[in-house]
Amino acid sequence: MDGAFDPRLRRPGRGPATGIHRRHGCVHVDVTAELPPWARVLPDFRPLGPDETRGFRTGMAVTLPFADMPTYLGHLAQRAERLGVAVEHRHVADLAELDAGRVVVNAAGRAGELAGDPAVTGVRGVHVVLSDVGVEEFTMEIATAPRWTNVFPHPGRTVVGGAALPPDDPTPDADVAEEILARAVAVEPRLADARVLGHEVGWRPVRPTPRTEVDDRGVVHAYGHGGVGVTVSWGVADEVTRLVATVAG
Ligand SMILES: Cc1cc2nc3c(=O)[nH]c(=O)nc-3n(C[C@H](O)[C@H](O)[C@H](O)COP(=O)(O)OP(=O)(O)OC[C@H]3O[C@@H](n4cnc5c(N)ncnc54)[C@H](O)[C@@H]3O)c2cc1C
Repeated sequence: MDGAFDPRLRRPGRGPATGIHRRHGCVHVDVTAELPPWARVLPDFRPLGPDETRGFRTGMAVTLPFADMPTYLGHLAQRAERLGVAVEHRHVADLAELDAGRVVVNAAGRAGELAGDPAVTGVRGVHVVLSDVGVEEFTMEIATAPRWTNVFPHPGRTVVGGAALPPDDPTPDADVAEEILARAVAVEPRLADARVLGHEVGWRPVRPTPRTEVDDRGVVHAYGHGGVGVTVSWGVADEVTRLVATVAG
């Protein structure tokens, strides 16, 4: 069954490499004792049995779409180019410096200073990128702890992660990466044979509630989606389109 996903994540377009692929795997959940009702409409849904939950409160086996981000972002950039979108890369110090007469959308991630918004902050994340040793199924943990284990196989490489470090957390990224790798190997022992291809460090744009709204100057804001910004991106884009129409119209 496919209906649970936004069609743009199910079939992001024709062409060779969109970066979206589907994987079967397990989601282990500690934040609740019951799986949410919507879980049952996910493709290939099956609740995990007590011998499969690995000490978590609950869990499910399911098929999900995954975005191989470098390829997916490249694909989106190409689509925008084909649609005639002009791209200019530059730092914006103040939204007021953008041309008047055009609708401005501020989607600058954790750059809360652009919106004068102290509520948005950055939570650091670290990924370890590993060579492909044949792991096909994903593992995802949804936990309240600041460390967890994700194993996401992509074509030709496997990305492992699971850390949320507030801006003032002094733990060096290399130490976090070591921890992440050890936890991933404990879950999927074949990863012990993988070569480390690289490390990725990024900042999740966290806000107590995401902001998708028009301010009193007519600027459309869309930021603060934390660790789920890709998951909710097409829904947010629909809302931004609607808001832009209200400002432009
Ligand atoms: C380690 C890690 C793992 C993650 N895993 C997942 C996941 O599994 N699923 C999921 O859905 N999400 C995940 N996320 C979160 C996801 O990456 C973010 O929610 C998403 O990237 C937010 O998108 P955005 O466009 O709002 O902001 P960003 O991706 O931060 O993009 C903002 C852009 O604005 C630009 N910018 C900022 N300030 C300025 C300025 N002053 N002038 C000009 N340009 C500016 C930046 O350079 C950047 O290009 C993860 C994030 C991290 C760090």
